[in-house]
Amino acid sequence: MEEVRYWQEEIETLARQELKALQLKRFRKRMAYVYKHSPMYKKKYDDAGIRPDDIRTIEDIRNVPFTMKEELRESQAEHPPWGDFMCVPPEEGVRVFQTTGTTGIPVKVLLNKKDWTVHFYDQFMHFMYGYGMNTSDILFVPFGYGLYIAWWGFQAALEQAGVMIVPGGAQSSQDRVKNILEWDATVVCGTPTYLLHLGETARSMGLSLPDSKVKIVAAAGEPGANVPATKAAIEELYGAKCYDDIGSSEISNFGFECIVQKGTHVIESMFYAECLDPDTLDPVGPGEVGELVLSNLCTESMPLLRYRMKDLVRFNRDKCDCGRTFLRLDGGILGRSDDMFQFAGVNIFPSGIENLIRQKAEFSSEYQIVVPRLGSGKRMKIRVEPASDQISETEMSQAVQEFIETFKYRITVTPDVEIAKVGELPRFELKAKRLIRE
Ligand SMILES: [Zn+2]
Repeated sequence: MEEVRYWQEEIETLARQELKALQLKRFRKRMAYVYKHSPMYKKKYDDAGIRPDDIRTIEDIRNVPFTMKEELRESQAEHPPWGDFMCVPPEEGVRVFQTTGTTGIPVKVLLNKKDWTVHFYDQFMHFMYGYGMNTSDILFVPFGYGLYIAWWGFQAALEQAGVMIVPGGAQSSQDRVKNILEWDATVVCGTPTYLLHLGETARSMGLSLPDSKVKIVAAAGEPGANVPATKAAIEELYGAKCYDDIGSSEISNFGFECIVQKGTHVIESMFYAECLDPDTLDPVGPGEVGELVLSNLCTESMPLLRYRMKDLVRFNRDKCDCGRTFLRLDGGILGRSDDMFQFAGVNIFPSGIENLIRQKAEFSSEYQIVVPRLGSGKRMKIRVEPASDQISETEMSQAVQEFIETFKYRITVTPDVEIAKVGELPRFELKAKRLIRE
């Protein structure tokens, strides 16, 4: 195995008790800070009759009210443009972003200089060292920058650390492939969907990424790096290790996969993480699926406390083979609690279906899941397309039959499968939207 590298070895390997003590101290400090600087938090805590001094043990954090994305939207609608949850004046801001708006009106995000150059930097150093990167690496960023946060922070932090950056914005996928090879990139980043597309583009051009210098692929923006079949497909296309990168515009960058590749670590020195039953909001037992709730322990501009991420995860607090004690999310983000759907009495995660689709070499990596209205009597429909024109109709229908059998066995529901033409299903550069509810 490659050598494990740490950014802050002492903190990353702290015993659980000491880590909890550090988190409690930092949580209390952040809570006092937002109470003092943000009218939204002051009102929220006054209404709940809770003060930062009431938090004496880590369990007391459960009494602190949640923060919801909807509140951030409302706050910005009522107090435009920044809302009343910001803790610094806008003049201090050096970077602004907005959320993708996949689930509603985008939320504006502001970072002051310390958040951008110290806290973001720290977060991404955990990622960089976790991935086993060093300053002689060359990062290719196949992304055109806009208001969305993706890769801005990663690039800036790595640049600050001394990694060479090759900008890959405003280029076709073909040109990006050529530039990865021409500039000897060792690391490529992207969403799992786009990374697959880029890797397939290289293949169709007759160019071999596995023979290139690329050794690390960082995947973010959607579950995928931890969907086994997707990870395997990316690793095969690039001949490289694919590591998960998790963050969100509002809460910043909290999860990275280490070289052991057994779950995604949460930077627990900078975030306090809880895994709660989405209905009762009580903590779930170890290894059980629950909703991720996060608190910023360090940021200054807009710390979020007990922020409901609406992501479903499974905690693993066993010490990792890399030596880190930071908890791991087994299987990364399993899905959005908004995306999980019930069908025929079964809880179904789109990522579980994706895993089955991407195990079939005859299918391309694109798909759609059409969920009929409850009580319509219709079956769930999966749209797939052939991986290329080379797949014959017989091969495709054989693959579909096998797929339906596996689906019935694994998901316990029988789907209808519709075969689209090669390249017919929509492609996504940012967050993919493949779940359609009728
Ligand atoms: Zn690890």
